[in-house]
Amino acid sequence: IIQMQNVSKFFGDFQALRDVSLDVANGERVVICGPSGSGKSTLIRCINRLEAHEAGQITVGGTTLTDAPVDLEKIRGQVGMVFQQFNLFPHLTVLENLCLGPRRALGLTDAQARDRALMYLTRVQIPDQADKFPRQLSGGQQQRVAIARSLCMEPRIMLFDEPTSALDPEMIAEVLDVMTELAASGMTMIVVTHEMGFARRVADRIVFMDKGEIVEIGTPEAVFTAPKSPRFKTFLNQIL
Ligand code: ATP
Ligand code: MG
Repeated sequence: IIQMQNVSKFFGDFQALRDVSLDVANGERVVICGPSGSGKSTLIRCINRLEAHEAGQITVGGTTLTDAPVDLEKIRGQVGMVFQQFNLFPHLTVLENLCLGPRRALGLTDAQARDRALMYLTRVQIPDQADKFPRQLSGGQQQRVAIARSLCMEPRIMLFDEPTSALDPEMIAEVLDVMTELAASGMTMIVVTHEMGFARRVADRIVFMDKGEIVEIGTPEAVFTAPKSPRFKTFLNQIL
């Protein structure tokens, strides 16, 4: 469902991605890890074209990302993204946050958007928080609202950029549980995270990046029991 071929990305003279190639199959779960500045966010931001790459080719759901700008809407509709900072609209209630996209971009009626919002709020286990404002929720609840908001657009692919790293430890598990359930439902997911327990349980493949390159890639079993590259070994020793 995603093909990246020899992708490079520059910020001025600085090369943030070096010749990155990665194919993700429909329904696959990929976890990306690596040191700060290694290009993890840049890689996933290229997939929904929050960043434009300079070399190589990216195809998402059959659409090549260098095509005409009209296709960009199509891509963003297919690819949901959840960030470390939840990026909810503070002046809107939870329900309003969830209904906005489906009404504006998908043309749902108020009632349809509301039904859908309540369904996804139930899926992330906070149907009772619908009328609150984001500031009235815990971090874990806010992140679950952000996930539900993405799901309301019914994307085919979900990208997560360190979704739990802004959370207090006791709230990390509730967000990872929701993500685990989403994975079980068959969603194609790319998750940047250093939660290696989650990676081991949920990922089909783990990608280790360093200095803009994919250094190692393999099943959790393979990479955790016998990491090949010294850089990955060092990294795992630091975080585990
Ligand atoms: P972290 O774990 O800290 O989130 P990361 O692996 O996600 O790191 P990226 O955010 O992808 O790293 O950044 C990769 C490199 O590109 C970094 O050196 C960063 O400083 C640089 N970079 C990222 N965005 C920009 C930008 N908009 N302009 C210039 N340089 C940037
Ligand atoms: Mg990042």
